[in-house]
Amino acid sequence: MVKRIGVLGGTFDPIHIGHLRGAIEVAEQFALDQLRLLPNARPPHRGAPQVAAADRLAMVACAVADVPQLRVDDRELRRDTPSYSIETLESLRAELASDDQLFLLLGWDAFCGLPTWHRWEALLDHCHILVLQRPDADSEAPEALRDLLAARSVSDPQALQGPGGQIAFVWQTPLAVSATQIRAQLASGKSVRFLVPDAVLAYIHAHGLYRA
Ligand code: ATP
Repeated sequence: MVKRIGVLGGTFDPIHIGHLRGAIEVAEQFALDQLRLLPNARPPHRGAPQVAAADRLAMVACAVADVPQLRVDDRELRRDTPSYSIETLESLRAELASDDQLFLLLGWDAFCGLPTWHRWEALLDHCHILVLQRPDADSEAPEALRDLLAARSVSDPQALQGPGGQIAFVWQTPLAVSATQIRAQLASGKSVRFLVPDAVLAYIHAHGLYRA
């Protein structure tokens, strides 16, 4: 049986309902066997996360504990190097059968930044890319991605074939929530109940995270 595995990386500082609903919707839409959430150790493209990797990992683990399609994957935290997606994909690939399908989920903004990523042109050797498009994202793809899109994008996401190599756009209605907003609310003593799962909220309070 060919397996279908999705991968969503992030700082998850903290994980919230925007990540979780998006992940579940993609898992259902693509009939994924599993969607893995991978907390980044040292994201190459942004500043240091506010809380320790162990706490971000523990919060993701709490969030997915009773969600059958979702898993936490700590491989980027086990490496002592920046979290380069290409290395993560190579390591995931090494654990799968050659015909298993791997889907890398990227928001539109992340996708547009792809040409700055380490060995970005090799990413599609290992996976398909699902670009999570938002109705309000109307910017054009950068010049450096035009040829790639012309050669590799498929208009019907359900038509993605084989273990990797193609790009599809997935439309989702976003939940207007971000980790930045949640950190700010916690720092000012406001409630973030229902923006994060109750188990994550309990972890945040038990460990005194994100207090001003
Ligand atoms: P921050 O506010 O700290 O930048 P964030 O909320 O954007 O964090 P990340 O951990 O950076 O969260 O996001 C990981 C992935 O989840 C990214 O691909 C991002 O596009 C996606 N994502 C974040 N928030 C949402 C949301 N509300 N709905 C759907 N996807 C989201």
